[in-house]
Amino acid sequence: MEKLDVLIVGGGPIGIACGLEAKKKGLGYLIVEKGPIVNSLFNYPVNMQFFSSSERLEIDDIPFISKEAKPKRNEALEYYRRIVSSNSLNIHLFEKVETVEKTGDGFEIISDKNRYMAEHVIIATGFYDLPNNLNVPGEDLPKVSHYYKDPHYYARQKLAVVGASNSAIDAALECWRKGSEVTLIIRGPEVGQRVKYWVRPDIINRIEEGSIKAYFNSTVKEIKETELIIDTPEGEVILENDFVLALTGYMPNFEFLEKLGIELSRDEKRLPAYNPETMETNVEGLYLAGVICGGMETHKWFIENSRIHAPIIISHILSKQLVDSRA
Ligand SMILES: Cc1cc2nc3c(=O)[nH]c(=O)nc-3n(C[C@H](O)[C@H](O)[C@H](O)COP(=O)(O)OP(=O)(O)OC[C@H]3O[C@@H](n4cnc5c(N)ncnc54)[C@H](O)[C@@H]3O)c2cc1C
Repeated sequence: MEKLDVLIVGGGPIGIACGLEAKKKGLGYLIVEKGPIVNSLFNYPVNMQFFSSSERLEIDDIPFISKEAKPKRNEALEYYRRIVSSNSLNIHLFEKVETVEKTGDGFEIISDKNRYMAEHVIIATGFYDLPNNLNVPGEDLPKVSHYYKDPHYYARQKLAVVGASNSAIDAALECWRKGSEVTLIIRGPEVGQRVKYWVRPDIINRIEEGSIKAYFNSTVKEIKETELIIDTPEGEVILENDFVLALTGYMPNFEFLEKLGIELSRDEKRLPAYNPETMETNVEGLYLAGVICGGMETHKWFIENSRIHAPIIISHILSKQLVDSRA
């Protein structure tokens, strides 16, 4: 079996950036992605608009042209898809990596379809697969979702949106504009401070005029077929309810990281151990790239500031190979 110089787990924007950099530098590489190209972005809301302007989402300085300064999801899908196809990147889609094991001089990687050997492995698996659950009775009812896709589905329905960050606020506004009766349930005292600066005044005005009802300092206690029970500072409130969008964030797959031998900090941040100058983890030859580096601090790394991980990692791999060839 041919041994790769580097296998990249995850074909999100940062996994693709790593693949492109590896190809440019002449390394034997493969990207393995469990879904379609940029699977997380594919699963974002259909009308979603990035908070970054398009040039900040570019990889390898390949121009990203969008209609408005801040691109929409479809434009980003087009951009990253074109990067994969026009550079003929070596990527296996709809193939899930299950284990990565250190062998004497590299790694054995087993997916649900194949087995590979590689000298180095980059984990760029993002954070969008595992939602932060509410952990309340009724959360498993079919009317509850942790992912928002399209406002049309909720038209003329009583919709509760749980959360106060960009995903929750975008969903609340869009669904209200398409005719949902929207109630926001927010754990803290206000709409999140990181909500896009041009969206925040919009939601605050809709709440103040009473178009969208908001309960602050409130939490969901129980979800029933036709009702939602919430704890508010004024006591328990029972709302009539058809659907719940629990948009309370996502977390990396820590179990996967631990299985690979990557150390995690013991505090609530669960930060993975890596050297920020090389992105190499405590396991030699195993690297982290992209949003996964932030542990529970999923807002810390995003496309804009983590695309730099690709050249850092590939140049470290090349420098190690140079040392080995001289030895
Ligand atoms: C609604 C929303 C809006 C955002 N807007 C912006 C923005 O404007 N600007 C910005 O910079 N960032 C933005 N972000 C954040 C940004 O999308 C993420 O930081 C980015 O996707 C990170 O890229 P990544 O490649 O690290 O991870 P991801 O894009 O999550 O890619 C990880 C990939 O790994 C795959 N994978 C996972 N496990 C396996 C496995 N075992 N085997 C094989 N494949 C696997 C997944 O399917 C996925 O495709 C936004 C996020 C959200 C949710």
